[in-house]
Amino acid sequence: MGKEKIILTGDRPTGRLHIGHYVGSLKRRVELQNSGLYDKTFIFIADAQALTDNIENPEKVRQNVIEVALDYMAVGLDPMKSTIFIQSQIPELCELTFYYMDLVTVSRLQRNPTVKTEIQMRNFETSIPVGFFTYPISQAADITAFKATTVPVGEDQEPMIEQTREIVRRFNYIYGDTLVEPEILLPDNAACLRLPGTDGKAKMSKSLGNCIYLSDTADEVEKKVKSMYTDPTHLKVSDPGKLEGNTVFTYLDAFCKPEHFGRYLPDYPNLDELKAHYTRGGLGDMKVKKFLAAIMQEELTPIRERRKEFEKDIPAIYEMLRKGCETARATAAATLDDVRKAMKINYF
Ligand code: ATP
Ligand code: MG
Repeated sequence: MGKEKIILTGDRPTGRLHIGHYVGSLKRRVELQNSGLYDKTFIFIADAQALTDNIENPEKVRQNVIEVALDYMAVGLDPMKSTIFIQSQIPELCELTFYYMDLVTVSRLQRNPTVKTEIQMRNFETSIPVGFFTYPISQAADITAFKATTVPVGEDQEPMIEQTREIVRRFNYIYGDTLVEPEILLPDNAACLRLPGTDGKAKMSKSLGNCIYLSDTADEVEKKVKSMYTDPTHLKVSDPGKLEGNTVFTYLDAFCKPEHFGRYLPDYPNLDELKAHYTRGGLGDMKVKKFLAAIMQEELTPIRERRKEFEKDIPAIYEMLRKGCETARATAAATLDDVRKAMKINYF
């Protein structure tokens, strides 16, 4: 048990995927998928989780399942190498969640900092849906059902993985070694842990409307970069500029590679020199934004073009998902069997 190296991660179909998802998780997944170092990769679209705070918007969730699947294919997730599936089609996950609920206290859930922030963001106050409140438990089911060892996600997911690890330890302690404890795999570039929105807000998020989407047109990307939040006190080109909280520089930290300078800004040997000039004064926001826009287009153009190709055959995307669900369901069912045996609720 636990010898296989298995990747699992997913996204909520609450909107198209954006560059925060890309640098925080998607890019890493594709590298891992292609590395040959892992035995299996499971990627899922968390529609049931998305419904916990979108219960009145089933059509939005349904449409975004396809949008997210298209984004996956566009960035290079490959159904020949990764099992891509839809959460709600795996009922075994509900049963696991039901059993895991007995292993977690209400106060433990209340302490989860990500859930706390999300409750505030959604103005739930006293009307928190129970399903939303307990989603860290269902996330533990998603992860453990596939015996995942490695979960590549952004920093906001850290408390969820910790919660999963606690559930695994408690389950194995009570019922004997059954579940696998997963490890979080955070981006190694600090700027990618939690990419801020174009408005400078703490996190680029579908729900905040501050995103650059992978499917945005070249013009949209250009416009969004030009209107990005920088240093509000940097008014004249000659003014010294601040890097801290300056979104344009955070994005450069996330996207810029040494070879970009030769191509677009040959006067600067590297990002440190560009930053030094900005801090000293004499470097205008527009020049830096143009540089960033060029780099972003370089990265996003091939993704956008691949997406256009996949958009031509939506039934093929559904068929890919159907097959993924079939494979995923068989795996989850085998884990559920182990869980029932361990819990002594296998009667016949
Ligand atoms: P929602 O607002 O519906 O929660 P979201 O934009 O937060 O949507 P999720 O589907 O919750 O997206 O997150 C999917 C994955 O992308 C997770 O691994 C999460 O850590 C990562 N992620 C999301 N936003 C960012 C970001 N701004 N920077 C880095 N990683 C991110
Ligand atoms: Mg989220």
